[in-house]
Amino acid sequence: MTKHIALLGHHLSHSISPRFQQAALDHLGLDIRYEAWDTEPDRLEETVNKLRRPQNLGANVTVPYKETVLALLDRLAGMAPQIGAVNTIINQGAKLVGHNTDATGFMMALRAEADFDPRDKCAVLLGAGGAARAVAFALVEAGIASLIIFNRTFERGRGLALALGANLKVGQQVRALPWEEGKLGEVLPACELLVNCTTLGLKGGPGEGQTPLRAEGLHKDMLVYDLVYNPPETPLLKEARRAGALAVSGLSMLVYQGAASFELWLEQPAPIDIMFKEARRVLGGGQCCAF
Ligand code: NAP
Repeated sequence: MTKHIALLGHHLSHSISPRFQQAALDHLGLDIRYEAWDTEPDRLEETVNKLRRPQNLGANVTVPYKETVLALLDRLAGMAPQIGAVNTIINQGAKLVGHNTDATGFMMALRAEADFDPRDKCAVLLGAGGAARAVAFALVEAGIASLIIFNRTFERGRGLALALGANLKVGQQVRALPWEEGKLGEVLPACELLVNCTTLGLKGGPGEGQTPLRAEGLHKDMLVYDLVYNPPETPLLKEARRAGALAVSGLSMLVYQGAASFELWLEQPAPIDIMFKEARRVLGGGQCCAF
């Protein structure tokens, strides 16, 4: 019997996950279809319950359901309860278990692309949405010494800083500051990692062509990681390179989070090289604008 893995979300036509996940499944000769299940909000519960059928191994979850899906699952595992968002569901004998592999994917990308260990470092996070939550909890878990959150809507940034408070160990500090040039100018010189978790720069979005920061605010001893992966060279990454910083695209996080999901569903190593190759091929063709 052919098995299925779903991508659960809304307005999925531009997602590249079905492309690189299917390439990985085909490479291993598995009789499994990875399918986009574009779901209207009023059909979410019914669609999630379909995942309990024996032919369905599970799902990825994307915008706008990463948080709303929590209430429809039987159990949360790993960092999903702290993060408060799920991007992967496993069907374990008709019980649905929710995981968050965005956090794992981000940490794997930092290590593989930049050999960066956050322990005892200082980081600045731009944004406080769903992706920023996963990144922030991952950095705290990995022992970051200082995390400073800037978000356009200050209250949301403060809410994230408060949520992280309960997870801090001795010597760790998390703060939210208003997104102002002066405040950024005060903290960026000592910052070793800057992560853009906003939608600024995303092709096809309202922030297309925009950068949250210019080269003058950045420096050569920092790693700049942009979660935006389309275009592959975002305006922020261009500015980072101009400042002499190490600049890494979010494509690596996308593929590593997908690989971590793959390993949860199938309990076997994901062919990461195949996934990267297909993701780069699709992006190179300019066929995508979101995730
Ligand atoms: P989200 O929950 O909608 O959050 C969007 C964030 O962007 C919020 O912090 C929002 O600030 C900020 N923002 C939007 N427009 C802005 C502007 N004009 N100026 C400054 N800030 C602005 O989205 P998300 O799921 O966290 O995704 C965020 C980004 O990460 C997207 O570009 C997405 O493609 C990317 N992403 C990448 C991966 C990967 O694997 N590489 C995984 C997940 C997400 P407010 O709070 O003020 O609205």
